[in-house]
Amino acid sequence: MKQVILTGDRPTGRLHVGHYVGSLKERVRLQNSGKYDEIYIMIADAQALTDNAEHPEKVRQNIIQVALDYLACGLDPAKSTIFIQSMVPELTELTFYYMNLVTVSRVQRNPTVKAEIQMRNFEASIPVGFFCYPISQAADITAFHATSVPAGEDQMPMLEQCREIVHKFNAVYGETLTEPQIILPGNQACLRLPGIDGKAKMSKSLGNCIYLSDEPEEIRKKIMSMFTDPNHLRVEDPGKVEGNPVFVYLDAFCKPEYFQEFLPEYSGLDELKAHYQRGGLGDMKVKKFLNNVMQAELRPIRERRKDWEARLPEVYEILRAGCEKAEAVAAETLRGVRHAMQIDYFENGTL
Ligand code: ATP
Ligand code: MG
Repeated sequence: MKQVILTGDRPTGRLHVGHYVGSLKERVRLQNSGKYDEIYIMIADAQALTDNAEHPEKVRQNIIQVALDYLACGLDPAKSTIFIQSMVPELTELTFYYMNLVTVSRVQRNPTVKAEIQMRNFEASIPVGFFCYPISQAADITAFHATSVPAGEDQMPMLEQCREIVHKFNAVYGETLTEPQIILPGNQACLRLPGIDGKAKMSKSLGNCIYLSDEPEEIRKKIMSMFTDPNHLRVEDPGKVEGNPVFVYLDAFCKPEYFQEFLPEYSGLDELKAHYQRGGLGDMKVKKFLNNVMQAELRPIRERRKDWEARLPEVYEILRAGCEKAEAVAAETLRGVRHAMQIDYFENGTL
């Protein structure tokens, strides 16, 4: 079977380091593994509009920002097709047909949707489009017959929902759609990177992010102001490393060679954690080390981003070509879906 990747991001802001460790880094690794026949990376503008209907300019402006972040991280348009969701209207039609295969109560049970409704204060009045976005995600995934979806942990319920739709569709209309699998990051700390404020998830909507495009001084300030263990008041106090964002970030970003470079008095992360836990290690020292690590990790990304920023017409062209290719593939899937659903009325003159 052809191995196909589909994944993407909402253009609601520039991408942050949570996106990077949760999905982007993995995408680049998979892209370069040579194990995939096709890779589609979608900028989910239609989905972004489901909770930003009044801010089309925000969505529009961020399309190019997300594309720049992709290219900066090493997504290669020669290997990966980068496209914009709304430029592939076939996805909307698929969504409409899949809606008939899902109940309202099933979507209501989706824990990510529940959390997001709460976060956006939508409890009293949920836009129908927002409520249905897990179904539209199933359309995005299946339109490309994706077998793998590299994403963060919050996407697990979406993938489950998608697989249910695939089963239902194939059972009712005959074997047509391909069942996808989620590829989660191997590193536990990357499943759901917390925000710099200690909230459970770094998220554009919560404003607790370190962005891939942040300048060195912004990164430093954010790290120095980071939430740590609130009970670690004096240097000599024992500290907690579990759930302490500073250590979660070190788990996510630190490579052994950074100790030799920036903190040679420790052999590695385990020794640093042990010292913090028994007391005698101040937050400032750990934060300074984390700052060095983050600066080293983000510098090449920021520099590549600046190179691409100077070549915007090329980025525009990459997107245009990507949309064209993606639409051709989705149209082919839609043809199969219409045939399976017996709504291909004028295909063979038998109406
Ligand atoms: P929004 O607040 O607009 O929903 P977001 O920051 O949650 O934005 P998305 O575009 O919804 O970002 O997510 C894109 C991808 O990045 C998904 O695969 C998601 O799992 C992953 N992701 C987002 N935030 C994190 C995080 N904090 N840790 C790990 N993965 C993340
Ligand atoms: Mg999100």
